[in-house]
Amino acid sequence: AVFDRIDAVEGKVRAYITQTRDLAMAQAKATDDKIARGEAIAPLAGIPGALKDNMCVKGVKTTCASQILANFVPPYDSAVAERLAAANAVVTGKTNLDEFAMGSSCENSSFFPTRNPWDTAAVPGGSSGGSAAAVAAAEAVWALGSDTGGSIRQPAAYCGVVGLKPTYGRVSRYGLVAYASSLDQIGPIARDVTDCALVLGAIAGHDGRDSTSIDAPVPDYAKALVPDARGLKIGLPKEYFVAGMDPAVEKAVYAAIDQLKALGAEYKEVSMPHTEYALAAYYLIATAEASSNLARFDGVGFGHRGEGNDIIAMYKRSRTEGFGEEVRRRIMLGTYALSSGYYDAYYLKALKVRTLIKQDFDKAFGEVDVLVAPIAPTTAFKVGEKVDDPLAMYLQDVCTVPINLAGLPAISLPCGFVGGLPIGLQIIGRPLGEETILRAAYAFE
Ligand code: GLN
Repeated sequence: AVFDRIDAVEGKVRAYITQTRDLAMAQAKATDDKIARGEAIAPLAGIPGALKDNMCVKGVKTTCASQILANFVPPYDSAVAERLAAANAVVTGKTNLDEFAMGSSCENSSFFPTRNPWDTAAVPGGSSGGSAAAVAAAEAVWALGSDTGGSIRQPAAYCGVVGLKPTYGRVSRYGLVAYASSLDQIGPIARDVTDCALVLGAIAGHDGRDSTSIDAPVPDYAKALVPDARGLKIGLPKEYFVAGMDPAVEKAVYAAIDQLKALGAEYKEVSMPHTEYALAAYYLIATAEASSNLARFDGVGFGHRGEGNDIIAMYKRSRTEGFGEEVRRRIMLGTYALSSGYYDAYYLKALKVRTLIKQDFDKAFGEVDVLVAPIAPTTAFKVGEKVDDPLAMYLQDVCTVPINLAGLPAISLPCGFVGGLPIGLQIIGRPLGEETILRAAYAFE
């Protein structure tokens, strides 16, 4: 049924870079066989979903939507692919993204842009735009995204589905192509909060191959889902209503707070004074780490190799031909921020700001259990609208990047519509507070 749906709408949406029909049918058969033998099956057994194309699946092309990896076939599975296989989930394919997860609209894919299923003239958000669009268009039941600065939550919001960025370290990054390693985190995108909880339960857990993986038991997230918010203390950081915020988005967030209060939550406004510096700190830290992580793509070990008479010329050709404009911009920004003489002024300063932002959250979580905020200042914008203005594109991330800087879990879920496009609500939790944000989201939904 999912592949029939893909055949019907993929021409308009273009969510997938690669479809894995044979793999999916074989995986589905494994579950059929289990059922025929009378064996117990896991909650995700036989349920079809897609992976963002920056997560390795053995034998399946993993491109990061980049020319430099256009023909790269990984010889191993990412930790999430392994866990999903162990849960007998079915993988339908690999979804489109902004090249190397750098972007907020899916327009930086070097192959093609994905469209928003609610309005194909609008972007699906990014960078996990393919994953969010696939779920919204019913071309997958669930999908995985990665979130370095909002890339699960913002496309989920733009496409009217639910997306969860777990606590940093909750899901193993082994086999995820690194963008900014201290910020990257894999998480689920699904049609509702329950599905999101089930997929998170399947992929979370300790993994010795990722040195930042958290060694803590994985709760039964579905158990946390109760239909009220009694006793929950919710806070609103007023600094998240930045200049340029669409009044309809602000109104929808306040209406969501009223609804949570009606469900039994206690509400107070909190202050997070360093929020205004988060975007600048993020774009220094993320580009610095990216410049270092992307040094491995040199045409030697794997990926595209350009022609050249000597090795330096070959490096240059490989990288110039392989990387798109935005990726090159970020490598240059990051290399500059890390260069001697500038390191203290930029990178080190950004790390200090990161600590101040974390302290703002620590203080707020002394007063409340969860924070409620918008996901983005606007709903999905038009294809082409911001593509030539990188700063306008970066501003889309103002409400999402502080959460990555602090390593916290946050969920994005629909809280209304304006002009036919969905508005996203963000619920942010304490470290390993996934159950609490899922509970609040479930009550609200
Ligand atoms: N839009 C942000 C960026 O381009 C976030 C990307 C992400 O979370 N991968 O850096």
